[in-house]
Amino acid sequence: MFLTPHTSAALWISTKVTDPIMAFILGVVSHVILDMIPHGDDHLADHITNKRDKFYYELKIATVDTIVAGLLILFFLVNGPIVNNWALLGAVLGAWVPDLTWLAIEYFKLNNFYNYIVYHGKLHNIFNWQYSPVYGVPFQIIVTLLMLKMTF
Ligand SMILES: [Zn+2]
Repeated sequence: MFLTPHTSAALWISTKVTDPIMAFILGVVSHVILDMIPHGDDHLADHITNKRDKFYYELKIATVDTIVAGLLILFFLVNGPIVNNWALLGAVLGAWVPDLTWLAIEYFKLNNFYNYIVYHGKLHNIFNWQYSPVYGVPFQIIVTLLMLKMTF
């Protein structure tokens, strides 16, 4: 799942808890739960066969996603309810860390931790239902908006 819906879950968590460690743990838990829901982004880059091109295409999407997620946090800081900033940081880190870990393992080729990638991948296929990003992207936008509605 994109970082943006994960971030919206983190924002919501930060409105519920004040302890940064608790917020971090709940952030990780929210990531796992959201990843388990079939979310239709497994085949985003299937039309690109060249491995290098595929990587850069995915990198571009990830950059836009990260910028949107960042803007969301900024918007929340300016317009959202007042929360404990450490809890906010904990929740966002918790919600991001499962994907950051995965990226770091891939990028630095940390083969000793490759099992993590296998488990993270399994999480996405727990219901074994893949569908097109044509539905997946709007679905993730709806999830984000619902989380934001609960947050603000
Ligand atoms: Zn993930």
